[in-house]
Amino acid sequence: MKRSEILKIYGTEYRENTIRLLEEADLISLIPDRNCRIAVKPNLVSPSPASFGATTHTEVVSGIIEYLQSHGCTSITLMEGSWVGDRTQDAVETCGYDTLCRKYHAPFIDTQKEPAVSRSCKGMELKICRCVQDVDFLINVPVMKGHCQTKVTCALKNLKGLIPNQEKRRFHAMGLHKPIAYLNAAIRQDFIVVDHICGDLDFEDGGNPVVRNCIMAARDPVLTDSYAAYLMGYDKTEIPYLQLAEDLGIGTTDLEKAEVRILGGGEQEKPLPKSGKVVELSDAVYEVESCSACYGYLLPALDRLKQEGLLEPLMKILGESDTRLCIGQGFRGKNGKLGIGSCTSGFDWSVKGCPPTETEIFLKLKELIQSSGHPECGSAVRNC
Ligand code: SF4
Repeated sequence: MKRSEILKIYGTEYRENTIRLLEEADLISLIPDRNCRIAVKPNLVSPSPASFGATTHTEVVSGIIEYLQSHGCTSITLMEGSWVGDRTQDAVETCGYDTLCRKYHAPFIDTQKEPAVSRSCKGMELKICRCVQDVDFLINVPVMKGHCQTKVTCALKNLKGLIPNQEKRRFHAMGLHKPIAYLNAAIRQDFIVVDHICGDLDFEDGGNPVVRNCIMAARDPVLTDSYAAYLMGYDKTEIPYLQLAEDLGIGTTDLEKAEVRILGGGEQEKPLPKSGKVVELSDAVYEVESCSACYGYLLPALDRLKQEGLLEPLMKILGESDTRLCIGQGFRGKNGKLGIGSCTSGFDWSVKGCPPTETEIFLKLKELIQSSGHPECGSAVRNC
C-alpha cells in the first residue's frame, strides 16, 4: 500500500471488513519481521461504549489481531491511557477490551501507569510513556470524531494516549496544536486503521454518534487527518496541527495527492454537515488551557441545559454579570466570578473537581440558574 493511499470499506461486519481491508492493504508486507514487537493503539478516551461514538470498536481491533496472528505475528500488545479524570481500566472493562485481550492472549498496557521518559524532538522536549520505546511497529486505531478544542481528532491526536497524564495537562497549557505535531515527530505511527463507524462530530467522549459504518486504512497520518477534516466539513487551515505536522515532515496535507479507494466500489462519501453545536455552546465559555476532559464534560453539560430550555437563562445570567464560564489551567490562582474545575477554586462560584464530571457541572449550573431567581428562568426550571 502506498503512502498516498486511503482504503475504505463500508458495512456492519466490522471484524471481517477490517480483515479484508488489511489483506487489500497487504499490511504484512510493511512489517519488518514477524517476531517484531507490534503495538496496537485504540482510542479508549473514557468509559463509553463504542456505539456512543467516542471509543474504538473491539471488532476492529479483533480484526487487526486476527489478521496479524494469521500471518504469524507473535508479539502484539495493546497500549492506551484514558484522558485525565477517567481510569483506563474502567474504559477497558466498559468497552470489552479485557475480554478481547484474554481471547487473543494480547497484553494491555495502561499508559496512565507507565513511567515517563524524556524525548527531545526537533527542539521540543516531550515526556512519553516508557512502553513506547519497546515498539517496533505501531498500528494506530483512532476514532474519527469531533473535538471541542481542535475541531477534529483522528490519527495525529490519538497518540496523546501514549503520554503521561501530567504531560497531557502540559499539552493543553501549550495550546495543543504545536505539541500534537511534535509528538508525532517523536513517535512514528507505521499504519493507521480509522474507526469511522459512528464517531461523534462534536464531543470527544461521544454521546451523539453519527453512523457511517466505514473503516479506513492509511499510512500517512497527516493525509489521513486532512481527509478526516474534509469529511467533517472543515478546511485543513482550520486545524493548525495539520500544517504544523506537515512542516515537520510527518506527512502531507495535500488532498490532491490522496488516492482514496473504496473496496467493493461505491460512491465517495460527501462531507458531513458541520453541526455547529460546539460553536454555539462555547459562546458561554472562556477557556484558557483547559484539559480535554474538563472542557469535554462542560460542553455536553451545557447541551443538557439547552435541551431543558435552560441555556438561555444561563446566557442571561452571564450577560448580566458581564462574564462567561471560565475553565482551564490559565485561571489557576486567579479571581473571577464563575468557574469550572479546581483551577478556578479562587472564583466567587466554581464547580469543584479535577475535572468535574458532566453531571456535576450540569447539576451545579442548574442549581445556579434556579437560585438566581431570574424571572425568565421560572417556567423552564419548573419544566425540568
Ligand atoms: S480543573 Fe484544571 S487541571 Fe483539572 S482537568 Fe480542569 S483544566 Fe485540567
